[in-house]
Amino acid sequence: MDQQGGAFYDVIESRPKYLKCDVEMEKTVKTNKRASNNGLYELLECPVCATLMYPPLHQCPNGHTLCSSCKTRVQRCCPICRIEMGSIRCLALEKVAESLELPCIHRSLGCHDIFPYYGKLKHEKNCRFRPYKCPYAGSVCLVTGKIPELVTHLKDNHNVDLHDGSTFNHRYVKSNPHEVENATWMLTVFNCYGWQFCLHFEAFNMGMAPFYISFLRFMGEETEAKKFSYSLEIGGGGRKLTWQGVPRSIRDSHRKIRDGLDGLVIPRNLGLLLSGGNGQELKLRVIGRIWKEKQVIRN
Ligand SMILES: [Zn+2]
Ligand SMILES: [Zn+2]
Ligand SMILES: [Zn+2]
Ligand SMILES: [Zn+2]
Repeated sequence: MDQQGGAFYDVIESRPKYLKCDVEMEKTVKTNKRASNNGLYELLECPVCATLMYPPLHQCPNGHTLCSSCKTRVQRCCPICRIEMGSIRCLALEKVAESLELPCIHRSLGCHDIFPYYGKLKHEKNCRFRPYKCPYAGSVCLVTGKIPELVTHLKDNHNVDLHDGSTFNHRYVKSNPHEVENATWMLTVFNCYGWQFCLHFEAFNMGMAPFYISFLRFMGEETEAKKFSYSLEIGGGGRKLTWQGVPRSIRDSHRKIRDGLDGLVIPRNLGLLLSGGNGQELKLRVIGRIWKEKQVIRN
């Protein structure tokens, strides 16, 4: 009991000195200071990169704290006092952090929950208010945002067509279907039932064999996506290929869905057969429908 009391006293005793020094440093080093009414919160911001620090927290022999990634980047020297960093862990600050409760980083997007310091990151990774990534597949696009912002972005920056309605009849024409590597990724957005859906059509290689795949993604959370179904049909020359599926949330990458073959998969030879012609051009007509399931029995 006595020992515990002593240890606690020590921590309190040493805090003010440490606090003062660190706050002084923050003033000089930090450029993007966040507004906060909690001194501890500020203390937990890395003085170099200004993000919240999570264990292991490091400090130089003079007590300057640093987050793990900045510690790796600066290698040997403390970025503040330039002396050798060593490998001192700042356990006291790690312990103090345990007692903190902080709001989710996506508060401005609508999440009003409060989390224990060390549970915050895990929540934020799965927070349903976190911004969505741009669903366009053809290039690496780093744009993120809310769904309406992404719809505008798709229209303005990727020239994606936006259609109203739950049925569609699309024709994909590709002049040189043998160049899978240079395949174009087609994306069309459908607006129905108050939601937006992305229809993807792309070419890919499975092993050495060339395929096409078409699937639907839902611009929202998986729990909402499950309330819908869709069908795709492709045909020609008396033949028909149909697919019925459940749209996947855009939280899942298009690549994950494609590699999981969760869509209408068409081997290239069959695609050429269905498109008629001489094999020099691919002309596929995709007929589709999206509907809302009346009763959801899926889990
Ligand atoms: Zn840092
Ligand atoms: Zn230092
Ligand atoms: Zn959240
Ligand atoms: Zn984009």
